Amino acid sequence: MNGKVVVLTTGGTIAMRADPDLGVVPAVSGPELIAAVPPLDGVCPVEVREFANIPSPHMTPRIMYDLARMAEKVLAEPEVRGVVITHGTDTMEETAYLLDLFIAGDKPVCLVGAMRSAAEISPDGPKNILCAVRCAASPQAVGMGLLVVMNEEIHAAREVTKSHTANPKTFISPFWGPLGYVDEDRVIFRRSRLGRQNIRPTAIVEDVYLVTLAAGVDDFLINCLVDKGVKGIVIEGSGRGNVHESAMPGIRRAVEAGIAVVLTSRCFGGRVLDVYGYAGSARRQREIGVILGGEISGQKARIKLILALGVTSDREQLAGYFDQP
Ligand code: ASP
Repeated sequence: MNGKVVVLTTGGTIAMRADPDLGVVPAVSGPELIAAVPPLDGVCPVEVREFANIPSPHMTPRIMYDLARMAEKVLAEPEVRGVVITHGTDTMEETAYLLDLFIAGDKPVCLVGAMRSAAEISPDGPKNILCAVRCAASPQAVGMGLLVVMNEEIHAAREVTKSHTANPKTFISPFWGPLGYVDEDRVIFRRSRLGRQNIRPTAIVEDVYLVTLAAGVDDFLINCLVDKGVKGIVIEGSGRGNVHESAMPGIRRAVEAGIAVVLTSRCFGGRVLDVYGYAGSARRQREIGVILGGEISGQKARIKLILALGVTSDREQLAGYFDQP
């Protein structure tokens, strides 16, 4: 494979330094980030383009969507073999999933960040960037969808999640595990990326909320969202997708108001499924028009619904995007 890897920078801890008065804040430019990784010279030509310099909690679906379209333009350049996107780790999984769903084509795209800023002892950013560029430049990563490369591990956008607030080994793919590993001498994949979906709206619908229904939580928050007139609600229930029965009147009201309601689980693995028949179960919710969200997390179901509502508001068509085999 020939060609260059383009690094798009968006910010995050990887581009931050400690300020004695403010704490850790954005401070490092794109070229500075790359200059801190001399071994990149031995991988392939690398070009840096700055997209933003924001902490990832400031990311919005609109910014992610703009980033997806910019990345796609870069990938269309014939001399580009892959793209690396530097990003804060907090919402990296959501950006990765939006890009995974939106971007068509097989060229590798790897998201990367750091848990320790440049000012800390043993920052992880430089090594992570090196691994991400090596992965994006590798033929093995072609056709693998959006990848998150952190701590030498390669994860699929659909499966990965941030699991620890501070530890460098924070990214895990619960239940399924990583796709591969970036070793000193080679990029290794031990399984392939199956079941990739493509959702390509010409505009997105951002008015979609995520509500976690913990033990005994009723429909108060859902009713607030119905009163606000939102376009979509993702519910995070327990286990197979079950909620307390006192949440059901609000859920019914939301569906009857024409709001797209998608059910997910707070479990880290497995699908929501309509196995139970008691009040508040996934089955009772499906019967009144709730869409079963499959095996993705609540935050990723929200991203998918934001894209899917840009294509259709039809409930059956929306349901077709979720829980695919
Ligand atoms: N709060 C930071 C962010 O997501 C954390 C990080 O980058 O690791 O931007």
